[in-house]
Amino acid sequence: MQAVQLQLAREEIATAQVRVGIGHDTHRLEPGRPLLLGGVRIAHDRGAVGHSDADVLLHALIDALLGAAGLGDIGEWFPNDDPANRNRRSSEMLAEVLSALRTQGWRPVNADGIVFAERPKLSSLKSEIREAVARLLAVPNSAVNLKAKTGEGVGPIGREEAISAEVVVLLEREEASNTLEG
Ligand code: MG
Repeated sequence: MQAVQLQLAREEIATAQVRVGIGHDTHRLEPGRPLLLGGVRIAHDRGAVGHSDADVLLHALIDALLGAAGLGDIGEWFPNDDPANRNRRSSEMLAEVLSALRTQGWRPVNADGIVFAERPKLSSLKSEIREAVARLLAVPNSAVNLKAKTGEGVGPIGREEAISAEVVVLLEREEASNTLEG
């Protein structure tokens, strides 16, 4: 009986390897530039300056994913001095990174992000951005969380000179295990 139970336990063990990653990004804000967050175009009187589409949230997300998988950073994958990345859509870069992760068996479990911006107020836009990011990651909406913080009028964020984002992600890879610990 014990042997049967042990065999069942062995078969049921499919260890989920998990990895956590963190990403951070900042872009300058200037009038006359588009503002994208999570691939969503935000109506605002200024936008982020960058080599690509300057989507600060997706850049932080990409770095978090690369970090979790131990695959370097966004600058190594999409160098600023490569003309191919000029005005490149960050959602395309994200798709490329996700594809590389999938090849290694990794899939995103959840993402939690913070956008730091004095304006615009993001409270009414958060659910749209969350849904867009969840779609890009192919996870349920509930697996993406977004928080918005101002700079309280202080520093480059508070003076509306810059916008920043931080993202933490969890990756999971299922691996059947035939060994019991202990
Ligand atoms: Mg960036």
